[in-house]
Amino acid sequence: MNIYLVELIVFLLVTLFVTIIFKVKKNHKLKLILFTLFIIFFVSISGTYLLEKPHVYIVSPEINLEINQSSEIKVPHTTYHMKDVTSSVKVNGTVDYNKVGTYKIEYEVPTIIGEYSVEQTINVVDSIKPTITLNGDKVYNLSYSAEYEEPGFTVEDNSFEDLTQKVNISKEEISDTEYDIIYSVEDSSGNTAVERRKVLVVDDIAPVIRLNGSANMRILVNSTYTEKGATAVDEKDGDLSDKIEISGKVNTSKVGEYKIKYTVSDKSGNKSETTRKVIVYKESPSSGTGVIYLTFDDGPSSSITPKILDILKEKNVKATFFVLNYSSSLEYLIKREYNEGHSIGIHGYSHVYSEIYKSDEAFMNNITKLQKKIATTTGYSPTIIRFPGGSSNTVSKNYSKGIMSRLSKAVIDAGFRYYDWNVSSGDAGGAKTSTQVYNNVVNNLSKSRSNVVLMHDFAGNTKTLNALSDIIDYGLENGYVFKPITKDTPMVTHHISN
Ligand code: ZN
Repeated sequence: MNIYLVELIVFLLVTLFVTIIFKVKKNHKLKLILFTLFIIFFVSISGTYLLEKPHVYIVSPEINLEINQSSEIKVPHTTYHMKDVTSSVKVNGTVDYNKVGTYKIEYEVPTIIGEYSVEQTINVVDSIKPTITLNGDKVYNLSYSAEYEEPGFTVEDNSFEDLTQKVNISKEEISDTEYDIIYSVEDSSGNTAVERRKVLVVDDIAPVIRLNGSANMRILVNSTYTEKGATAVDEKDGDLSDKIEISGKVNTSKVGEYKIKYTVSDKSGNKSETTRKVIVYKESPSSGTGVIYLTFDDGPSSSITPKILDILKEKNVKATFFVLNYSSSLEYLIKREYNEGHSIGIHGYSHVYSEIYKSDEAFMNNITKLQKKIATTTGYSPTIIRFPGGSSNTVSKNYSKGIMSRLSKAVIDAGFRYYDWNVSSGDAGGAKTSTQVYNNVVNNLSKSRSNVVLMHDFAGNTKTLNALSDIIDYGLENGYVFKPITKDTPMVTHHISN
């Protein structure tokens, strides 16, 4: 019930009561006073009633709201004349809660004497900083030799603004082995976020040990084992060869298999280890079986022959050189071959098929002429020969039919022995790489026979040069014995085809 109505009724009742008590009926003066008071009171109550303003219960005339956190305007609780009139409040103005800005809202309440309104300012603000989330670990272990690869990041902001492209990435050096990657971003309201990723540069690469000499050695019992050592190189620390520790012993007086261990660590503690196997063996296979006769045709050459001789010397292996005519400047190579214990055989003064195979006499002259020259150079007159093209060649048919059949007997009658081959390295034909040369040789060796290996030391034949060490190592590791061909070596010959 309205308070104003109650007041009016109370006033009327009091007036009536006073009128009755004081018998104002006959007192006109008092009647006038009461009437006047009634009018004054009535007018003032009515006026107060009419002029009363509604109560709009807003929290504050100005409020801040975080962006994207509201969706509609909440009408404030409103009363008028003690009654809840919230539902009749009209809202003027709009707020975009998804956009930073200042919005004016007016709440309009209908009253008896017209519209009453209250203003409110709503500030949609963005005061929350973005969030940078790093992909991957916050501490990044970077290998010394690798490059830093950014694992990426994601950025979220309450404004839903895509800030990914706005992220600024910088680098802060801490030390030689440590730096920070700093990610910073600012949203359009000036809120900034910073994240750091620590990068630790670690040396996780072990040194590389390379053995000098073969990793698999065979030595005869009671011979001397010479430690050839090893080299070690580390990507970061460089040459660590003098830091290599060698352990293990070879008892050369006892047949068996021994292991020499080589270990080295770099400054960061990365350790490398390798071993050399040394087999001490008792006796060589019997002559004729498991023997390898390495033969080099068409030399000498200044570029290849000296290097082949170096390898043979290092491996302590003797071989056979079937030489062609040589200039005086290459005499030293013939002498060296001879002095270092290799066999020198005759390939021919000339290698030109049309000349040497045109007649029996031409061929015999071709070998005796070179024989004499070698004798002059070395003091030794060789009697082992290899036919240019081999005894099985058919090219000689073009110049003299049946000449190979005749020569194969004639050379024997003249005191020579000739040697073809049963293992071809292919280095003058199909083999294009040192690996092919190696495979052609080792895949065709046999323990149950003499192996005469055809190779060449003509100029530029690097593929044989580069395969030679490994071929020798393979032979030694697999129980073969290397020998030079001598006049006592059983002949290895092809089938004559002309
Ligand atoms: Zn040849």
